[in-house]
Amino acid sequence: MSRLQKILIPLLGLVLAFWFYSARENFKPEMLKGKRVIVTGASTGIGEQIAYHLARMGSHILITARTEAKLQKVVQRCLDLGAASARYVGGTMEDMAFAQHVVREAQTTLGGLDMLILNHVGASYFGFFDGDVEHVRKLLEINFLSYVAMTTAALPMLKESEGSIVVVSSMAGKVGFPFTVPYSATKFALDGFFSSLRQEFNIQRINVSITLCILGFIDTERAVRSAAALLRDRPAPKDECALEILKAAALRRRELYYRYSSTRLPLLLRDCAADLLDYLVRSRFR
Ligand code: NDP
Repeated sequence: MSRLQKILIPLLGLVLAFWFYSARENFKPEMLKGKRVIVTGASTGIGEQIAYHLARMGSHILITARTEAKLQKVVQRCLDLGAASARYVGGTMEDMAFAQHVVREAQTTLGGLDMLILNHVGASYFGFFDGDVEHVRKLLEINFLSYVAMTTAALPMLKESEGSIVVVSSMAGKVGFPFTVPYSATKFALDGFFSSLRQEFNIQRINVSITLCILGFIDTERAVRSAAALLRDRPAPKDECALEILKAAALRRRELYYRYSSTRLPLLLRDCAADLLDYLVRSRFR
């Protein structure tokens, strides 16, 4: 009997796991048709690619970043690709009033909001921590506080639409990375804030999903310029990354790991072999 139990219980677990994953909904582009979406940091890189995918799916898009000339071009391309509407607001996320202004703009021009995609990232250095506390404070404002300010301002609209918040983070926000101390600190802060907020939404039965995206090395211009010479990994394509972010968001997943092999798999070591994980992270650098 006990031998039967030893076989049956794991087998039942496997069957249930298979059922759970296979019964999950699949992504369809129509899920985002007509949705009202804000994308931050969309003048270039992953944010720009997210905007193009949304455009092909027929969403209403409001993008933001500092460089208006680039934003204008992205908006025009979004319209060419079939966006239901596309517009931009230019400004800096160092200024919390601007962060809130972007959300108000969605209220005024789109009449509400279904998805808030927080993706922008301030410039930092790649090297040993230089002790510049002022830089850490400024980066926290751009990469963390403005995310909090936008979320807070957008929450009434997102509650009404039962919408989604997407937070673009990094492997460096789950495990300590060398040479990116201020950046890592801001990404860890995002995990703490948004994972706790998700718990509270659950308790309060607020039907707003939060998807935290844990990205590995992606082939955006900035990342390749600053890290390609030092990292052994080959970067993953930004357009595929952008699509995976949108799929995870539309399916209301709690976390996305992209690429899975270079993010989720190593992180499995975190609780049982943290020193080994640290070693593996260090060994990715030349
Ligand atoms: P990019 O540097 O290519 O783009 C950053 C965007 O943020 C740009 O649109 C930039 O536009 C905007 N931005 C920068 N500073 C400010 C500011 N002060 N106020 C408002 N907007 C600003 O970044 P990626 O596309 O590479 O990264 C996107 C996200 O993915 C980030 O959150 C990043 O941490 C994450 N990620 C990326 C990885 C990668 O390898 N690429 C790896 C892991 C995570 P502008 O200069 O015009 O303001």
